[in-house]
Amino acid sequence: MAELDGVLRELAAEMAERTDRGAVASYIPQLGTIDAGKFGIAVALADGQVLSAGDADEAFSIQSVSKVFTLTLALGKIGDALWKRVGREPSGNPFNSIVQLEMEHGIPRNPFINAGAIVVSDVLLAGHQPREAIGEILRFIQFLADDDSVFIDREVAASERATGFRNMALANYMRSFGNLHHEAELALGVYFHHCAIAMTCRQLAQAARFLAFDGRNPLTGHSVVSTQRARRINALMLTCGHYDGSGDFAFRVGIPGKSGVGGGIIGIVPGVASLAVWSPGLNENGNSKLGSIALEKLARTMNWSVFAS
Ligand code: GLN
Repeated sequence: MAELDGVLRELAAEMAERTDRGAVASYIPQLGTIDAGKFGIAVALADGQVLSAGDADEAFSIQSVSKVFTLTLALGKIGDALWKRVGREPSGNPFNSIVQLEMEHGIPRNPFINAGAIVVSDVLLAGHQPREAIGEILRFIQFLADDDSVFIDREVAASERATGFRNMALANYMRSFGNLHHEAELALGVYFHHCAIAMTCRQLAQAARFLAFDGRNPLTGHSVVSTQRARRINALMLTCGHYDGSGDFAFRVGIPGKSGVGGGIIGIVPGVASLAVWSPGLNENGNSKLGSIALEKLARTMNWSVFAS
């Protein structure tokens, strides 16, 4: 796809020029050390090609993008029983907000805000030691990316553990409502480590590809999840994937997406491609500033939208 190759190159060149890059997350000290000048983008297609431009081969902290993969695993384990413990509505609040939890009796609004993802970690912990649960998540992502070099950045995990006071508050609060079955410390151990997984844009685009093709690897036909489940995960990404910026992302970009405070975003164009972009500077909602802009431009140029006829 020569045309797409050129579009990606032009986008990367344009983004490299920009000076309004947003602010790198510093509440996790280790993330604050990342160069805001980075920009990478990758697109995985049905035929197995992954086209890319910019810093697409540099590993970065995927943070909340990992919540898509942990949700997929948790649904595989307990299926729809998950929805007794986590909702499916946009929160309209920041990713680390605690305010709704009291009124809603410790049931987080959705699996992509921190509280919801901590419950998902608690589900993945059942019957395991934290180390085993973390290993299972890492192996699943390596399998999806078809790349064993995907790794957990232990320094990022330790940095978040040392400063994750809000997440500790969320976890303990949910435990008081009976919606955390393990010690907060253990569920958070799993959560902090999956947020600290490091991947490149190319690996991420590849790992998310099953969501663009009815839950299957389009090359091998191997099924990761059912068609219905892939559609539902995409629906959650569209409505909840960017926290209190989810409506704006859907409005501007028009495809399901999931962001992380490391500056990564994955996007899904059903039947066509899975996308990954990385630019560490964030906007006011904690989503990659240039990453969102680049996806908006790419979607418009390629006429990609889940609302297209
Ligand atoms: N690990 C981060 C946190 O818990 C994830 C947040 C994010 O990427 N939005 O704060």
